[in-house]
Amino acid sequence: MSYKIALLGIYHESNTFINSPTTLEDFRKGHWLKGDDIRKEYLNAFHEIGGMLEVLEREKIEVIPVLYAQATPGGIITAEAYSVLLKELLEELDKVLPIDGCMVVPHGAAVSESFLDMDGHWLNLLRNKLGEQVPIIGTLDPHANVSPLMIASTDGLIAYKSNPHIDQRQVGKEAAALMVSTLQKKVRPIQVLVQLPMAISIEQQYTSKEPCKSLYTYVQKLSKEKLILSISIILGFPYADVIEMGSSFIIIADGDRDAAQLVGRQLKSYILDHLDRFLGKKINISTALSLLKESEKPVLLLDMGDNIGGGSPGNSLHLLKALEQFGLYKLFICIHDPLAVITATKYDVGDKFVISLTDMDKSLYEIEVTLQQVQDGHFEETQPRHGGQVNYDMGKIAVISTAKGNVVMLTSRRIPPFSLRQLTTFNIFPRNFEVVVVKGVNAPIAAYGPECPTVIQVNTPGVTQADMTAFKYKNRRKPLFPFEQLKQ
Ligand SMILES: [Zn+2]
Repeated sequence: MSYKIALLGIYHESNTFINSPTTLEDFRKGHWLKGDDIRKEYLNAFHEIGGMLEVLEREKIEVIPVLYAQATPGGIITAEAYSVLLKELLEELDKVLPIDGCMVVPHGAAVSESFLDMDGHWLNLLRNKLGEQVPIIGTLDPHANVSPLMIASTDGLIAYKSNPHIDQRQVGKEAAALMVSTLQKKVRPIQVLVQLPMAISIEQQYTSKEPCKSLYTYVQKLSKEKLILSISIILGFPYADVIEMGSSFIIIADGDRDAAQLVGRQLKSYILDHLDRFLGKKINISTALSLLKESEKPVLLLDMGDNIGGGSPGNSLHLLKALEQFGLYKLFICIHDPLAVITATKYDVGDKFVISLTDMDKSLYEIEVTLQQVQDGHFEETQPRHGGQVNYDMGKIAVISTAKGNVVMLTSRRIPPFSLRQLTTFNIFPRNFEVVVVKGVNAPIAAYGPECPTVIQVNTPGVTQADMTAFKYKNRRKPLFPFEQLKQ
């Protein structure tokens, strides 16, 4: 029997603590693709869409890419942007109906001004349009805040199993394989969500180290239980003031809700027994500087408060200022500052001038620099890296150096540090520095870890600071560890 499958997604991680919203322009600057352009961009990429296409096309299933829109993590999506994207998504889908199944690619932490549970909203509209008989199966980023509506509206959602997310293509293949066996009536997926009374600290979400390592090993063991088709660990995205915020599990069983619920109870009790392990260390800037002397170089300093992959502006200067003042180690840092790029590009390479950088708290930092290069900031990544994207565009960039020998790349567009090609394309190599600052927590380690033998996560201030209890939430569920202590 031949099948026809639609493939679509709106993908965003929305930080509700950021004042500036995510607009249509942000999606235009990101990835907003229709039809065959989706296939061209992702067929060979380390992205879930590539994995889905590979499996479905191998099975001789007709796959119709409909629409895929993604913006760099940022503030809440405007009502206008969501309404335009949704209208286009549904209109494009209408053109290809009827279909036998629908592959979906939500992130799982999208918030719009009009719908706090934006992913639940569009997945539910899909379900209403397609009916109960058409399977809706897809992937999730484990930095999702999963709602009951997302689960009720789909037949199976499978999250990436690694953070940094280097297994996106593999998870796309798993989701597509589940679609195939569901269509062939070999399995009947039943999905259960277990929301936990806790949120794992962003610092503790690196999956190949403890405490995640043991948790993932335990999940792997439970995945082999009879009738269990998939278990997803949802680490959660702390920077969203929504009722779904927090960690959870999604268990998919073959036709047996009780089997899924039993595994859910086992996992919940594992987490409750190990709560304190998921809190994190919160190393401040002065402690991080004191660790540099004894550390093998180059040292990767992760600027957790300005985590671009968590929506942050990418312009925090806390670590640049501290390292300039410290003066002992040669540093590289990339900063998103379009105005500074305009200033710098008025000069010629080799010119010395004073530049004003604007910190995330709007304070100005003036520093004498030399212009090293001005470039068009497009680069390509073909290795398996967090995010699975191939094409990146920083807009125009300027590379400057300070009197102390520190090197700063200034970008016009805000690009998360997921790829080393962001540097090497412009002949900048981490090994030429003693300290490399990147604006992230875990995701950049896939690219930078092999170059930097020492990795230190720094608890810098900002809209993605590691201590989630410093934010004011109105909507989160309660009790939720570490905000509330749980009675054992
Ligand atoms: Zn993620």
